[in-house]
Amino acid sequence: MSSEARIPLSDPVIEGNEEEYVRDCVRSGWISGAGPYLRKLEESVTGLLGGGHAVAVSSGTSALHLALLIAGVEPGDEVLLSNLTFIATANAILHCGAVPVVIDAEPNHWQLDCDALERFLATRCEIREGCLFNRESGRRIAALIPVHASGYPCDMERIDALRRTHPLFVIEDAAGALGSTLRGRHAGTFGDIGCFSFNGNKIVTTGGGGMLVTRNAEWAARARHLANQAKSDPLEYIHDAVAFNYRLSNLQAAFGCAQMEKLPHFISRRREINRAYRERLAGIPGLSWASEAGDVFWNGWQTTLAVDAAAFGCSARQLGAHLLGKNIESRPLWRPVHLSPVHAAQTPFPLPISDLLYERGLTLPSSGSLSDGQVERVAHAIAQCHRSG
Ligand SMILES: *Cc1c(COP(=O)(O)O)cnc(C)c1O
Repeated sequence: MSSEARIPLSDPVIEGNEEEYVRDCVRSGWISGAGPYLRKLEESVTGLLGGGHAVAVSSGTSALHLALLIAGVEPGDEVLLSNLTFIATANAILHCGAVPVVIDAEPNHWQLDCDALERFLATRCEIREGCLFNRESGRRIAALIPVHASGYPCDMERIDALRRTHPLFVIEDAAGALGSTLRGRHAGTFGDIGCFSFNGNKIVTTGGGGMLVTRNAEWAARARHLANQAKSDPLEYIHDAVAFNYRLSNLQAAFGCAQMEKLPHFISRRREINRAYRERLAGIPGLSWASEAGDVFWNGWQTTLAVDAAAFGCSARQLGAHLLGKNIESRPLWRPVHLSPVHAAQTPFPLPISDLLYERGLTLPSSGSLSDGQVERVAHAIAQCHRSG
């Protein structure tokens, strides 16, 4: 094991007003599910996104779960989703008793393959009484969750176009995509509902938390209600639904308000890190990266490398082990949903790109706190693995 300091995968940067705002909560006593920082955090998100309604919740997963309930997803329905995602997306679907149906990724940006989605809608679905049905299974398709994997916006304009001909409730899993845009419009604002995460590894953190955003005031109110045990009387314990404790605390929101002040800085630093890796490793055979389209602004949340073992000299997992030996953290890309036996996803088409990216993907240290010297240390270790491979 190396004697050099460990380089973490995705650490929070805590160098702003976090302590001051959290101390303010401690002094005021507003530390739980109500208080001024919750509203402030919601306003800072709607301010960034250019309007709409935001509801602070306990996690990105709870935001997704609430969004699916608002979409009217019922047990036995099907929900389409990107196959290449963190398991939370599929979990939210199963929490509703629905069946996940996975769609492959495309090879350029590693996002939902809209050609495959279109083919699925055209060849496997039918519309009856205003609802979309899977002709093979007979089940209703109640929603679609495109995921902005690694924070990179997927092609929401294509998805918008498909919605003109197909009744699809669209929930964006924008967990890691805060600040990313497509033609100047923010990820999370294209679908009916957008869901963000403030987990510790995301670009902005509250320690743990999430945000549901929508332009529909009624849905936002419904989400807030369901996140708060469906409390229907301020005094009496009367609850009009079987609901959840999915609230964020004022303490967490205070932390998040300080983080939001630094978002532009976090984004530019993560983008710089991505650029530095690419420049430093250009020319080494067998390494490739997701490309950034001209009309996209990516927040740089998570830099992932694809390793072609034959050309590079070792596999992504061997490279990961080599980096760990140098005290550098890395991780394979998510195991695609279709490979998880407990989630029993439906796979209408083959999934070659998700399989390939699962084999080849390796996420590199992307923390906003990394110094240029640390990025160089990672790049050097990767180059070394090629020569020794
Ligand atoms: C982090 C993440 C989630 C879950 O967010 P939590 O706040 O951890 O519940 C969901 N989807 C994706 C793509 C994520 O990266």
